[in-house]
Amino acid sequence: CGIVGYVGSNSSQDVLLGGLRRLEYRGYDSAGIAVVDPAGDLVSAKKAGKLQALVDELESSPIPDGTTGIGHTRWATHGGPTDGNAHPHLADGDKLALIHNGIIENFSELRAELQAEGIEFRSETDSEVAAHLVGRAFRETGDLTAAMQQAVQRLDGAFTLLVVHADQPGVVVGARRNSPLVVGLGDGENFMGSDVAAFVAYTQRALSIGQDEIATIRPDGVDVIHFDGTPATPSEFEVNWDA
Ligand code: GLU
Repeated sequence: CGIVGYVGSNSSQDVLLGGLRRLEYRGYDSAGIAVVDPAGDLVSAKKAGKLQALVDELESSPIPDGTTGIGHTRWATHGGPTDGNAHPHLADGDKLALIHNGIIENFSELRAELQAEGIEFRSETDSEVAAHLVGRAFRETGDLTAAMQQAVQRLDGAFTLLVVHADQPGVVVGARRNSPLVVGLGDGENFMGSDVAAFVAYTQRALSIGQDEIATIRPDGVDVIHFDGTPATPSEFEVNWDA
């Protein structure tokens, strides 16, 4: 439902939770975040209910902070609103975290294919197949953008996807089809969101990501390609409303 991503030098937890707060107007039933911590580990927390339930959980059982992360508010379509079905979904030995907006229509055949390879599913969502597809492709390519590019070839339906991987700190990769994704351009930091509300408190410069495109953000740059790997030229715009 709501999506935020951050790379930079500030606390990603603060940026993610602030972004999710500003996306609350969309309505949701669960929330979660994943962060790559300075030790190069991926840590995550997720909770059914209001964002405050996640914030309380993070207060009682804190997770390390880092400067790369993703956050999600979920509006359940496949699988009830439980802690386990909340996003992020983990894959590749819990080193990769993925969040998803939308519906993956061919999830049941993909799940059967992945299960036949011995992958265990921990949720009833359509989204988890995307995490394992990117995870499988990452093991082959060692690069999150290349892995995302492979994975999206297999997906039908509507999706905005964001992924982070412990082995590639300082990178968030996003992809979109039939569901929105915008990039926020900062100074030594960059953002992603399902809409500009996710990052308007930090920057008013944004890129609109087109249909069937993949965006890779790092603290010092943004790359955008089409699903076929050719470079894309996203248009920059100014967000002209106040945070
Ligand atoms: N279809 C996914 C799920 O049920 C994502 C829903 C959303 O867009 O929040 O978990």
